[in-house]
Amino acid sequence: MAIGNYPGAAQAFAELARGAVTRNGPRAPLLLLQAGRMRILAGQIPLGMTHLQQGLGLFAARGLWQQFRNSGQRVVTELSQCGLTGQAKQIEATLKTNLPAGFVPGPGAGLEKTKRVLPTNCPGCGGPLHADEVQWTDEITAECSYCGSAVRAE
Ligand SMILES: [Zn+2]
Repeated sequence: MAIGNYPGAAQAFAELARGAVTRNGPRAPLLLLQAGRMRILAGQIPLGMTHLQQGLGLFAARGLWQQFRNSGQRVVTELSQCGLTGQAKQIEATLKTNLPAGFVPGPGAGLEKTKRVLPTNCPGCGGPLHADEVQWTDEITAECSYCGSAVRAE
């Protein structure tokens, strides 16, 4: 990934995601989202969009609305930054259509105490880390969403 091998990285994440989906593993949605990002960076836009929608769909199916919304909004921002405004609109529409009417975004719900600075990428697998997407195992330790490594916050 560091050297820009996006098709290879996309393939690797897609395979990890497939395994996680089969096992119904907790990391399946984020792995799908990451596979989608890599596909898009590799120029494989339609395939990337499929992965992104599948990843968000899994969050929705599991009722993880906070993660659904946070990850979805990040994807929208990233797509817009790539100039893919049409695709960004599609994801925005997915968010709007799926979020339950009563959903109130928890601004920093549980984030206050875990507002730590994580390394931008997992030292183990190189996957991107976001404080609001990872699972925190304690105050200063997060679990990498991709490989499960324990990552220490600063
Ligand atoms: Zn990792």
